[in-house]
Amino acid sequence: MKILSVIVPCYNEEAVILKTHQRLLAVLSKLVLFQFEIIYVNDGSTDNTLTYLEKIASEDKAIKILSFSRNFGHQPAISAGLAHCSGNIAIVIDADLQDPPELIPEMIQMWEKDFQVVYGKRRTRKEKGWFKLLLVKFFYRFINVLSDIEIPVNTGDFRLVDRRVIDILNMMPEKYRYVRGMVSWAGFKQCEILYDRDSRFAGDSKYPMKRLLKLAADGIFSFSLVPLRVASWIGASTALLSVIGIIYAFLNRVLTKNWVPGWTLLFIAVMFLGGVTLLVLGIIGEYIGRIYGEVKQRPLYLIESKTGFDQ
Ligand code: UDP
Ligand code: MG
Repeated sequence: MKILSVIVPCYNEEAVILKTHQRLLAVLSKLVLFQFEIIYVNDGSTDNTLTYLEKIASEDKAIKILSFSRNFGHQPAISAGLAHCSGNIAIVIDADLQDPPELIPEMIQMWEKDFQVVYGKRRTRKEKGWFKLLLVKFFYRFINVLSDIEIPVNTGDFRLVDRRVIDILNMMPEKYRYVRGMVSWAGFKQCEILYDRDSRFAGDSKYPMKRLLKLAADGIFSFSLVPLRVASWIGASTALLSVIGIIYAFLNRVLTKNWVPGWTLLFIAVMFLGGVTLLVLGIIGEYIGRIYGEVKQRPLYLIESKTGFDQ
């Protein structure tokens, strides 16, 4: 019998986790061709999430828990689940019921039609916070302009991946992970399923603006060298401009007598070049910081306890 792994990253989800589990079980128990396992990844929750999970797991052998030693983040949590799953296919789904578990059979049908990646694409979103949604919308367009691979618009991490893709993701050692980008990068046959994204069942979003921006930065800087290229272009064009300026200044000095005034131009030029230099340095710094993060070779996450796994 084939195995389906469902991976659920959880961070302070005590308000929803039992309900989520119920809805997942209702869907999974109807699958006839698959044996399933659910891997809950407790990403350093500080509430009762782990207690609830342990209770669920004690009643059912198909439920497994990976518990981190602290909060490492959504993307490391997904990566841990993928690294520990035994399924022929894995489905990553949020713990807050924004992604409907009822879509899982449909995803499996597409997999049976020989797609290795089936991602949920949001047709509509019911979340609160128009500003966040607007920003997210802008971001997905922006990243596709910048990056070398096409990352589907309006998709999150709710997706099905085939064992071949799971193995590839597990082989990728990068620390700044943007899993949906990595899945796109892997290629194979990918298809989408449209769905309406609900608002959170309960609890608050664990993605405040700061985290969202970090995820966006990981998406851009891990998949694109365009910012560096833009930096070079800005450098090149200002250098070109400065040649014109130098010729102008030289001719002005030699051919005319009005060369004392011009403070304004000088001031503007200094400010502008100073700004551009710092901006470019910042962009370069962003990449160097990431190289630093990678070469440290620290583990992506630390597992404090495992429940339900054989070893
Ligand atoms: N999550 C996590 N670690 C974090 C932040 C979030 O494991 O540091 C999980 C969270 O429990 C949820 C999923 O990632 O299952 C998506 O988070 P959330 O729903 O808060 O994000 P939003 O849907 O608001 O973008
Ligand atoms: Mg959510």
